[in-house]
Amino acid sequence: MGTNFQTMKRGTPILFAPLALFVLILVSVLYFSTRQTPGKSQHSRSEFPPVKESKSINKFTDADFAAHVEQLKKKLPGRGFTIIVQPPFVVIGDGTPAAVKSQAETVRWAVDKLKQDYFENDPREILNIWLFKNEASYRKHARALFGDEPDTPYGYYSSAHKALVMNIETGGGTLVHEIVHPFVEANFPNCPAWFNEGLGSLYEQSGEAEGHIYGYTNWRLPGLQEAIRRNIVPSFKTLMATGTRAFYDEDKGSNYAQARYLCYYLQERSLLIKFYKEFRANHKNDPTGYQTLQSVLNETDMSAFQKKWEKFVLGLSEEFKLLAPA
Ligand SMILES: [Zn+2]
Repeated sequence: MGTNFQTMKRGTPILFAPLALFVLILVSVLYFSTRQTPGKSQHSRSEFPPVKESKSINKFTDADFAAHVEQLKKKLPGRGFTIIVQPPFVVIGDGTPAAVKSQAETVRWAVDKLKQDYFENDPREILNIWLFKNEASYRKHARALFGDEPDTPYGYYSSAHKALVMNIETGGGTLVHEIVHPFVEANFPNCPAWFNEGLGSLYEQSGEAEGHIYGYTNWRLPGLQEAIRRNIVPSFKTLMATGTRAFYDEDKGSNYAQARYLCYYLQERSLLIKFYKEFRANHKNDPTGYQTLQSVLNETDMSAFQKKWEKFVLGLSEEFKLLAPA
């Protein structure tokens, strides 16, 4: 390298053009390789299969997307919307065109990374991702377009409306979380809420490790640690047997976090993808995932495991406070 650099320095000015180009490419590569990565990870990624191109089912053609966009244009709730086809989704945003473009990049990244490790099938239909620039726009348009009064300030997935509806001002984390749900729906029918939300929540704070999606600790951690200290976290058997409605409606506040940090624990042990695949395969015989969890963990004494997991969680710290929703 040193020798080459000396040669360039002594060379004619024309050599600066390739040098400048090289620097430009280097800077671009560094920029794009770090922009989705909030931090470096030291964790072993031995769980991952080699990166290969994902083949997916339910692919729509360019003509299908074009027809979808034409229909969509007729229904736009006002001016100033940017539409970007980002298969298998269509992204519609009322931020600046540059902002919507960058948010569509996040969608592309999340879709690629999630499909690489988990999902063969695209959602059955083309889904719209509505990215509203602030809470006022989000609430106004959720009402106007879908008659919804969202119970969350961040965003939600509506299977009935074939839409993800987001307040993108709260950050891209919820966007990645919600993208998980239609993929789970298309790839793991009857997946229980605990795992659907555990996986979605895991990736609401994510980046890349060795080319794969990786969930970091996040804002759900302190509340879970507090619940563990107060001894009010249910057993995994109870959590995993919680039905969908009960998971959402009777949550004492720790369901999402407990499910997330079980997924996080499995990720750290390089067992998460294995668990997902085995759980999906065994789902008829083990609808809650509890037996599959025991077998993947190789644990017979689940109360001892719970103690081990609690100790693990209490030893974690929040890695990226700045990205947490307010
Ligand atoms: Zn969710």
